[in-house]
Amino acid sequence: MNIILLGPPGAGKGTQASILVKERNMVQLSTGDMLRAAKTSGTEMGKKVAAVMDAGNLVTDEIVIGLIREQLEVQKDANGFIFDGFPRTLAQADALGELLAEMDEALDHVIELEVNEDVLVQRILGRAAEAVAAGGTARADDNEESLKIRLMAYYKQTSPLIGYYYAKGDLKSVDGLASMEDVAGSIKAALAT
Ligand code: AMP
Repeated sequence: MNIILLGPPGAGKGTQASILVKERNMVQLSTGDMLRAAKTSGTEMGKKVAAVMDAGNLVTDEIVIGLIREQLEVQKDANGFIFDGFPRTLAQADALGELLAEMDEALDHVIELEVNEDVLVQRILGRAAEAVAAGGTARADDNEESLKIRLMAYYKQTSPLIGYYYAKGDLKSVDGLASMEDVAGSIKAALAT
């Protein structure tokens, strides 16, 4: 089974993806994690995307599609993929469809986590404060200024995917404001349909 978790930053995609990994032994493909790893290890690509990511803008389709293509090849025997934070544009959505088709795989479900904007802002700024309180550092893009840009990128570039997948008949929406356990339960129910 291959699924996409769709929703704005702070909607809980990463948290729910980890639960699915544990419960179903699926592979989580988070382009955000891959890009942060490239940034930390200082690869050429990492250096190229650092400023764009820190500001809260999307990196190019070419880069993220390349990352996903590579992971799909390396992990081709996986027991299903959870796409977390990818696709984020219509071009990425088309590319994903083609990549899966080349592997004789299909997209089984697109789960939209529905939230409201005030909650997102509180969650993300809370996540940054928690990281600092624990003696660590917050994500470079978990600040109010980058967050505004990330939300705008979501509404301008990513939210059209809701209509795209609805029209394809793949979309299921769940209430992302419920508790972590309840959201996990709603996702489980959606995947069983
Ligand atoms: P995330 O961890 O998913 O919130 O992603 C963090 C940042 O990485 C985003 O704000 C973008 O700058 C970049 N990024 C992650 N995934 C994508 C994607 N699919 N397309 C473009 N940029 C992405």
